Amino acid sequence: MAIIKVQKGTKDILPDEMPIWHFMEQKALEVFSKYGAREIRTPIFEATELFARGVGDTTDIVNKEMYTFEKSERSLTLRPENTAGVVRAFIENGMHRLSAPVKLWYKGPMFRYERPQAGRQRQFHQVGVEVFGIKQPSADAEVIMMAVDYLKALGLNDLTVELNSLGCPSCREEFKRHLKDVIRPYLPQLCEDCQNRFEKNPLRLLDCKSPECQEIYAKPEIQKVIQGDFICEECSNHFEELKKYLDILGVKYERNKLLVRGLDYYNRTVFEIKSNNLGSQNAVCGGGRYDSLVKNLGGEDTPAIGFAMGMERLAALIGDKLDEHLTAYVISNNTEEALKLTEELRNNGISAEFDLTNKKFVKQLEKASKVAKYALILGEDEIAKNEITVKNLDTSEQKTVSRQNLNELKCMII
Ligand code: ATP
Ligand code: MG
Repeated sequence: MAIIKVQKGTKDILPDEMPIWHFMEQKALEVFSKYGAREIRTPIFEATELFARGVGDTTDIVNKEMYTFEKSERSLTLRPENTAGVVRAFIENGMHRLSAPVKLWYKGPMFRYERPQAGRQRQFHQVGVEVFGIKQPSADAEVIMMAVDYLKALGLNDLTVELNSLGCPSCREEFKRHLKDVIRPYLPQLCEDCQNRFEKNPLRLLDCKSPECQEIYAKPEIQKVIQGDFICEECSNHFEELKKYLDILGVKYERNKLLVRGLDYYNRTVFEIKSNNLGSQNAVCGGGRYDSLVKNLGGEDTPAIGFAMGMERLAALIGDKLDEHLTAYVISNNTEEALKLTEELRNNGISAEFDLTNKKFVKQLEKASKVAKYALILGEDEIAKNEITVKNLDTSEQKTVSRQNLNELKCMII
């Protein structure tokens, strides 16, 4: 009988890959909790209208990429992203009554009907943050910091933060008008998507991936409009303030005036974080401010800002770098002492094992150097003196510590 295969654009995450996924999930909890963010899990399907209104019906996501189906005469959609769902939950559960800022984070699968390729799947995972209730640029800085901190915690460095301001609805109108005016003469030469976007969402023209369109947008008269500073004084102050905070925090960024982001709801700050080590799908994080979305979805007027990261792309970057070694391997021919020490280490949050079969010392050392970072040696001498010899299995350095003082040992090996 023919075997049934996994669907195009979807993947099994097999046991060998799980350590990376656990690592990404644990670090998310760890890092975002430090900022006072709490996890939220919303359903995987929602009313189609939530995304039409919440993501925007001029976006690629809503126009081309949604998995929509009917059930009991209701139109439902598998979530293509999680901001709309989190905002719905925020409104429905009266979270605007909580004291601001309300910081939420999430992780989970998203679904987009796209052409599968490296770094692009139809079911993929995102981890993200949404911060509600603060209009000041300090919130923008903190959200960007959360993203940067998380990436650092994953051991990812070779990344660039790109930053832009889209202005507010009023100054953006002016920009759109100028942009349309300079692009209009080239309209017949643009790709079909851009011809459609021209009236509905001219900012998205800048986001077009077609080289022919990009060549047109590189023309001097068009660049002059793009590179010109269109944003109003208030928006400009917001942006300058944010940049000042990022400078103070030592976050490096680049201004990218072509950065408009795919979703309709952004205003003022938008940002992307790109890897210098991925192919063409190099964006690992996208985010921005969306001050009108809560109100547009029927809630109280609440400013908000957030980001989402693609976990498959993070996993590709983490790759083999993940260190799965135990922290400690206890070496002893005294099973009772080895048992006690190993248990004590585990109770102190240190991963540890010992040889359950009580093999010769050399064999135990061989095993230790394969599976652990440190060998903790409890020979007859050490047991008599109530000491432990700690051997760094990378450098072969050795030091003796008192068995009494686990803190000293902890400082050495964690
Ligand atoms: P792109 O321009 O690459 O399509 P996007 O603007 O659609 O990106 P967002 O909606 O901002 O992406 O999603 C945030 C992040 O989620 C992206 O930066 C990326 O890492 C990841 N992502 C988006 N779509 C996919 C996909 N189909 N497969 C895997 N990861 C994805
Ligand atoms: Mg996309």
